[in-house]
Amino acid sequence: MAARIFCVANQKGGVGKTTTTVNLAAGLAKVGQRVLMIDLDPQGNATMGSGVDKRKLELTIYDVLLESASIAEARVRSEKCGYDVLGANRELAGAEVELVDVERRDRRLKLAIAAVAQDYDFILIDCPPSLSMLTLNGLCSAHGVIVPMQCEYFALEGLTDLVNTIKQVHANLNKDLQIIGLLRVMFDPRITLQQQVSEQLKSHFGDKVFNTVIPRNVRLAEAPSYGQPGVVFDPSARGSVAYVEFANEMVERIKAM
Ligand code: ATP
Ligand code: MG
Repeated sequence: MAARIFCVANQKGGVGKTTTTVNLAAGLAKVGQRVLMIDLDPQGNATMGSGVDKRKLELTIYDVLLESASIAEARVRSEKCGYDVLGANRELAGAEVELVDVERRDRRLKLAIAAVAQDYDFILIDCPPSLSMLTLNGLCSAHGVIVPMQCEYFALEGLTDLVNTIKQVHANLNKDLQIIGLLRVMFDPRITLQQQVSEQLKSHFGDKVFNTVIPRNVRLAEAPSYGQPGVVFDPSARGSVAYVEFANEMVERIKAM
């Protein structure tokens, strides 16, 4: 069977997209899934956080989007993390402009992925904090969107824009696309407001809210400076255990899809 493809997206910055992408990738690898992690953000944090030096890459997602390389040529293996990486670096910022005038500009990633989809069980795409042409390429390629969010007051407001964008992409560009779920991250149960927002989320979105909750855990924040997801860096940390639990929940969810 071909890979199930998921974007990790939220146009809000710093909400835990990259942390979720790399830890879910490592968690899935740990439970025996074949995984490709695609970094679609010029910041290259998911690349570095997977132990791949973005400054030393010869080929990246940029070359794939401009159709000067295939994913098979540009991907690298992160042995430590147990998954493949299609990396990104600052060069990708230029793609936004360079793609303006080309054909199939919103479907380039989709077409490139089709050529390697048989090699994987899961393909995860780390999106930048915007609803840009890059994110659009991600959304056009995916079966679903995973939305990490912090349970704060303004989180719900930002969600409306994202949900509307996903609806538009679904209607016009990619009929497969759906919200797989909202993932509560950096959760601190001692904060009453977080509990309240979490309850609101469940009553608005029902079973679109993942059962797994990712706690705020400093080990997850420390791991990137060692070029590793928390799941690899400190498997026994609470945050790492939660991400492996989330990986298992994802494996269950796709059986029902
Ligand atoms: P951007 O929008 O810039 O791409 P992002 O949405 O990818 O950001 P991350 O980089 O994953 O967000 O996380 C933002 C910061 O929060 C990072 O410093 C990260 O280490 C930290 N962080 C993420 N998740 C947790 C967590 N569960 N507990 C503690 N710190 C966390
Ligand atoms: Mg990020």
